[in-house]
Amino acid sequence: MKSFHKGGTLWTKVQNIIETPLFVDSELTSMVQLADVCAYSLRRYLEKKETHLFNEVFKIADKKDGKVVGVRHFSAPSCACLICSAHKPLP
Ligand SMILES: [Zn+2]
Repeated sequence: MKSFHKGGTLWTKVQNIIETPLFVDSELTSMVQLADVCAYSLRRYLEKKETHLFNEVFKIADKKDGKVVGVRHFSAPSCACLICSAHKPLP
């Protein structure tokens, strides 16, 4: 985390994360519950094609120059899901 705070990521500076990563039961902190909801929505979209919750989370994903960089799907280059489509280079 020190490296990310100092130099940012490949796409952006890290300004809003102040905690040191740790494992904690999600019942103890609302921010972990929020992260769980995001992860759940992505998983349900990718595995079951459910879009209701995914659309709410994905529309606020971090973007840089119009390209979504806050959510990634590491899959085959031919994947046409919304995540991969939004991450492809702009024409
Ligand atoms: Zn994909």
